[in-house]
Amino acid sequence: MAHLSLYRAFRPATFDEIVRQEHVVRILKNQISQDAVGHAYLFCGPRGTGKTSVARIFARAINCKNPKNGSPCGVCETCKALDGGSLDVTEIDAASNNGVNEMRDLREKVQYPPVTGAYKVYIIDEVHMLTDSAFNALLKTLEEPPRHAIFILATTEPQKIPATILSRCMRLDFKLIPQTDLEGHLKGILKEIGKQYEDSAVSAIARAGAGSDRDMLSIAEMCLAYSDTLTYEGVTAVLGGADFMQMSELCERILTGRQSEALSCVEKILSEGKSVGVLMRDTLQFLNHISIAKTCRNAEELLCLPKEMFERVSAIAQTVDPRAILRASDVFTKTEMDLRFVSSPRICFETAVVKASMPAADYDIEALMQRISALEKRLENAGGMIPSAQTVPTVDLEVLPKKTQTVEENYDFPTEEPIFDEPYLPVPTKVEEPIAPPPVVQQTTVPSTVSSDAQETFGRFMRTLRKTHRNGVLFTMCADLEAAFESGALVLTTESETVYRALNREDNQAIMRDVFASIGVLDYRVCIKGRKVQNDRSAIEALKRDFSDYPIELK
Ligand SMILES: [Zn+2]
Repeated sequence: MAHLSLYRAFRPATFDEIVRQEHVVRILKNQISQDAVGHAYLFCGPRGTGKTSVARIFARAINCKNPKNGSPCGVCETCKALDGGSLDVTEIDAASNNGVNEMRDLREKVQYPPVTGAYKVYIIDEVHMLTDSAFNALLKTLEEPPRHAIFILATTEPQKIPATILSRCMRLDFKLIPQTDLEGHLKGILKEIGKQYEDSAVSAIARAGAGSDRDMLSIAEMCLAYSDTLTYEGVTAVLGGADFMQMSELCERILTGRQSEALSCVEKILSEGKSVGVLMRDTLQFLNHISIAKTCRNAEELLCLPKEMFERVSAIAQTVDPRAILRASDVFTKTEMDLRFVSSPRICFETAVVKASMPAADYDIEALMQRISALEKRLENAGGMIPSAQTVPTVDLEVLPKKTQTVEENYDFPTEEPIFDEPYLPVPTKVEEPIAPPPVVQQTTVPSTVSSDAQETFGRFMRTLRKTHRNGVLFTMCADLEAAFESGALVLTTESETVYRALNREDNQAIMRDVFASIGVLDYRVCIKGRKVQNDRSAIEALKRDFSDYPIELK
């Protein structure tokens, strides 16, 4: 094996060894067997997909004395002659010979008949690199080619080829090689050279090859130089990527809003010497994996991850909110662009981690939608209001975000506290009994410091709530309440059963109790005003109308 690269050592010798370009191979084989070979071909496709290999096999096959199944036999006189480098097959690298002189030279020499076989074959690699005058010289040859001449032009950038050349060629497109085929190819080679490997290591190498057989084999060679046995750890060490388990932990913590744990993950990964750029790339790739696992039925096939890794990715995908995935991907994509221009990429990355894991810090619509889903889930878990998958609670339709705005305007009183200047005067009017009794009644009298104006008292409550509790959902739910004093108690009324139930839940009650106590209100209750029959359909329509610019998905 000494110093012969894997790619050269295992360059395919027959059409059957070409990895996954059946559509091209079939056409060429048919042309050979029907003796209908064209005189000019254009092979297009990404690097490392087999263009040059196919061109060489084709050149030998059309000259072979007894081709086997369309491929060169490899043993006849011409096959041997061509193997040793014959004048009949000329390879030109246009990237280094882009001058008009080479093309003129070619035009002259092409006139001489072949030495051993029936055809002279010119393979011009990276043909898009030719200059305009070189293209013109080539065009003259293509216009009146001798019968024995065949041209194979190969390029990664067909859009740079002049139309006059294109129109004279038969174009064949090579495709990126799927991961499974790359894996199969690599495993075959490893078995042949007697190397041990882990399946996950081969998958990682094939993934890094990104559809190119040549790239994959170069990476495999580096990994074999690092360690004689291919292990997943070895491969990630060579590729410089963060460990899969670390990445899955980081992404899971980001997506479930555990920012301080996510930051310690970042700390750990970077302290092991990974660069921020690589971590960014890995994070985006992992989020993409999760997104595919969440949305695609054939995710396992698409991702082609080792089994245990796929299970991990899909476990994360099942638990997280799809909006959180979208938001995080969005945050990191934007940050990736910024990364090039900042003086401290690490701070930039960590800020993105915090931002992506904390939708409450963000008032864009995606973040709000994410918080609404979280609220819906909590209400659902509380065993309440959302019996069917189609129900959308009232609070979600009405109060975000414009009502918040209204509240700020309505309750814009001086902020110095306390400003209790009037004693409370009981309101004499009799008010109907609320439908639901309050869960907590501590005292029946209101301290004299509380204003008689229910709206003003409630406004003070809202300001204090906003200042002391950063719970945006609770704030938004409270914003819609109507306040009035009834027999000394502050009665807050809502029309929405969802809001009513949510506000009477113990965790929200605890906060409200605190805030009311801090402004001197010891007796209050949240009631429901008349049961409003909520039509699911109209609720969904309203939601769609209010957020018409955003795709809405109902779970
Ligand atoms: Zn032969």
